[in-house]
Amino acid sequence: MTSVFLGMPVYAPRGVGALRGSTSFPVAARTALADDQLRRNLGHATSTIRGKRAAVVAEVPDWEELRLAGEAIKGYVMANLDTLLVQLEEQVTARGGTVHWARDAVEANAIVLDLVRATGATEVVKVKSMATQEIGLNEALAEGGVTAWETDLAELIVQLGDDKPSHILVPAIHRNRTEIRDIFRRTMPAAASLSDDPRELAMAARAYLREKFLTARVAVSGANFAVASTGTLAVVESEGNGRMCLTLPQTLITVMGIEKVVPTWTDLEVFLQLLPRSSTGERMNPYTSLWTGVTPGDGPQDFHLVLVDNGRTAVLSDPSGRAALHCIRCSACLNVCPVYERTGGHAYGSVYPGPIGAVLSPQLTGVEDNASLPYASSLCGACFDACPVRIDIPSMLVHLRNRHVEARAASPLPSPEAITMAAMSWVMSRPARFRSAERLLRLGRLLGRRTNHITTLPPPLSAWTTSRDLPRPPAQSFRDWWRTRPAPPSDTHPNSPAKPGPGLSADLRPVPPSEPLPEPSSDPGPSPASDLRPGSPADPRPGSPADGRPGESSDQRRDLPHLDAQEGR
Ligand code: SF4
Repeated sequence: MTSVFLGMPVYAPRGVGALRGSTSFPVAARTALADDQLRRNLGHATSTIRGKRAAVVAEVPDWEELRLAGEAIKGYVMANLDTLLVQLEEQVTARGGTVHWARDAVEANAIVLDLVRATGATEVVKVKSMATQEIGLNEALAEGGVTAWETDLAELIVQLGDDKPSHILVPAIHRNRTEIRDIFRRTMPAAASLSDDPRELAMAARAYLREKFLTARVAVSGANFAVASTGTLAVVESEGNGRMCLTLPQTLITVMGIEKVVPTWTDLEVFLQLLPRSSTGERMNPYTSLWTGVTPGDGPQDFHLVLVDNGRTAVLSDPSGRAALHCIRCSACLNVCPVYERTGGHAYGSVYPGPIGAVLSPQLTGVEDNASLPYASSLCGACFDACPVRIDIPSMLVHLRNRHVEARAASPLPSPEAITMAAMSWVMSRPARFRSAERLLRLGRLLGRRTNHITTLPPPLSAWTTSRDLPRPPAQSFRDWWRTRPAPPSDTHPNSPAKPGPGLSADLRPVPPSEPLPEPSSDPGPSPASDLRPGSPADPRPGSPADGRPGESSDQRRDLPHLDAQEGR
């Protein structure tokens, strides 16, 4: 066992792993939205998975109770993570495994590389694993002279295409079968005449991988769950490649985020019901592999479990954000998200895309490193409804936006927004300044002549027009319009004590404090509302002949300093 760092929680380090993109979400999304093929692929794939999920979830009468149970178990795990992890370590060790603790991606990669080197192997086969993608294990192994072969079909497509995963469950969701055929033709020696028939593609991948399975001496896996009470690890997958990796090689190294522990097998049972229906829309997972330590003569004889923090304790330290660690990576929230469906996963920059990525990545890295992600949402709430463990992603997004704004407010350099708001405040605080600004604004009418909208402005105002149009300023401002209106007679004031204004119904006169309220009559008489028809003499709305404003003379209405400040809101 390596030593454990007992200090303040730290964020996932920079320069390693795949939690940070090279551009902000709005910039990356613009590229993705311009790719029609990508949008077609995504729309087709997500709508298919959505339909399957909805059908199998509707079959379960106690689905909501299962969700509540999943939420409660995860809440318990987060509250008792320290003791559960120690219990897990004791149980794994007692059954012949070795547990390693990695504070971050750098430590985790170094541990795995050392373990592989100790076997003398130069190649490893891998089961699909988000944790190893998060820490950039393949790249770290490659730097150390070890080749990692992905064995999940979609991961293989991504690897051979020199691409990046764009979905938690279906990493090559952005590829259609013609594109996959082209990748296989390019990279597989025996695939030169391959068609785009799905079965042919799958058989080509099978033949390609079979040789890797049979020759690999080391396998690397992630883990969906770890049962603390017995030290049992669980991997759920759909292709059988995981089962091959977990049983054939001599050495098995499992890299697992610390939040994946569950207390008992009874708790595991809840998640094994929630996960397949939420992820692939299946009633039961096709391949569920479970192993406990080492069994002499059966399966890998050397088993290592690497427990990775990489920012997770920082997430845990935020009571409003820690529920992001409840995620069981089913991807249901991605498939229902209108933003994800249009942009795809690459726009998020992180290996965790979609709604869960928008709350998990900024918390693992520190909000300032993924500041645009909490805004990559319409806050429609579909992700919460779909989440099998009831993670309230919309509330968390708002919380992270708040953290981002507070962090910027504390910065010595004011943000462009802060500068703009200060300038607006200065202009609006004096009527004369506001009038001058109005006159300047009219120049803007020249820009929007054709479409009645202004679509491009120079910096810094371009920050607005890059994402939305600006309406063309009106020819007449409210103040100008107000000045041109005829002044009503000065006795139209509805609170005039001497006489009601002309046309004002007697029923609408204010009741003096000393006058008793009239008794309700069985005959309601003419409705007061009839006196308020548009255009009637008593219509007090702007534009009606009898319009008047309480407490103002016509002269006062021509100079309305308080309105000067309000018009521009
Ligand atoms: S947040 Fe919920 S819906 Fe999204 S991947 Fe995680 S468990 Fe699934």
